[in-house]
Amino acid sequence: MNDRILLGAIADDFTGATDLANILVRGGMRTVQTIGVPAADTVLPECDVVVVALKSRTIPAADAIRQSLAALDWLKAQGVQQVFFKVCSTFDSTDAGNIGQVADALLDALGEKISVVCPAYPANRRTVFQGHLFVGDVLLSDSPMRNHPLTPMTDANLVRVLGRQSRYPVGLVPWSKVGAGDTAIAEALAALAAQGVRHAVVDAVRDEDLHAIGTACRRQRLLVGGAGLALGLPQNFRDDNLLADHADADALGQVGGAAAVLAGSCSEATRAQVADMAGRHPAVVIDPLTADNPVHLAEAALANASATLDRGETVLFYSSADPAAVASIQQRLGLEHAATLVEQAFAHLAQALVARGVRRLVVAGGETSGAVVGALGVKALAIGPQIDPGVPWTRVLGPQPLLLALKSGNFGRTDFFSRALEMVR
Ligand code: ADP
Repeated sequence: MNDRILLGAIADDFTGATDLANILVRGGMRTVQTIGVPAADTVLPECDVVVVALKSRTIPAADAIRQSLAALDWLKAQGVQQVFFKVCSTFDSTDAGNIGQVADALLDALGEKISVVCPAYPANRRTVFQGHLFVGDVLLSDSPMRNHPLTPMTDANLVRVLGRQSRYPVGLVPWSKVGAGDTAIAEALAALAAQGVRHAVVDAVRDEDLHAIGTACRRQRLLVGGAGLALGLPQNFRDDNLLADHADADALGQVGGAAAVLAGSCSEATRAQVADMAGRHPAVVIDPLTADNPVHLAEAALANASATLDRGETVLFYSSADPAAVASIQQRLGLEHAATLVEQAFAHLAQALVARGVRRLVVAGGETSGAVVGALGVKALAIGPQIDPGVPWTRVLGPQPLLLALKSGNFGRTDFFSRALEMVR
């Protein structure tokens, strides 16, 4: 067991967990991300932060509470000083949950008076003013989030949104206090707590505000927010002489071996990245219309790449196709079936590639990444250097050296794949 973990985080989805971990590593904290709640006897490497990635954003609230409390128990057993409940920067939830319901449960379990709630993330154009969440220059309720299939956000007033979810009173620390600095914020929080408020939504429109909130929250045990809320936290631990200077907080070491890219996203960004990579390295297409069995699809792709892989060259495997081609495939195979077929093909391919000595793997697509991580039995990842905003290299913790870069479809610049592979050896 590691008894030096300073900050424990519980994230309600996987890519959100990585986003938070990435920010903390860049703040100089050595960070491990686990997939689900680790088993009681899990031994992690020495680190300053553990982010437990759950998939609890849209499951029934009772399940989200149970999983989050299990994560909290595990983190408490590691002796963490502060708990960060990572939610989406667009506060994705419904009145049925899960942010307020989980935050209530964590507050109770920690025996804390008040939580600090702030999804602002100015770098991604999420800001909070007078308790209202803005996406770019429009209110959340006027943004495309109003039409989200699972968590339509039709109210931008977070005090109201959280008030409908929580059993407890919700208050606001307005920007007039936040802009005055950390002492004013701490006083405002204390005043709200004295009035019986148990969740304080805090305004923030600039990174500077988030740093000040971070400083004000030095002794706050429960923070609820987007990754931006973590910006100011590493400095608190440094000021308390708890965090050594880790210039190499993101060091992953060398793994050797071959490299491959698995692109299962059909987003515009990934398609441009695939075209760029195919101009630089051998590329093998995975076409779900050529076989109705994922193992056969994977084997055929592998056979195509065999000679290249034997020479130790990097290979790009992709199923990415333009919207018209995807629509036609979905029409022939059914949407669900096409998706599962391709995801499972990538899962088999990842296993086969690792068995053949591939040690650096870049995966494009959220669902595709989930399938690959599941197939490889990944339980935890050490977070490494950032490739593009929000996407770091990671090292799989386990007996076998393996580096993974997992990106959601729309992330990254056009030369993402080749740049990622040049960063690590
Ligand atoms: P993103 O992060 O861009 O949403 P995902 O991997 O989450 O990417 O989702 C892409 C989905 O599209 C996956 O379910 C994948 O299996 C499916 N898919 C990929 N290529 C094709 C294709 N050529 N035809 C149909 N579906 C595809």
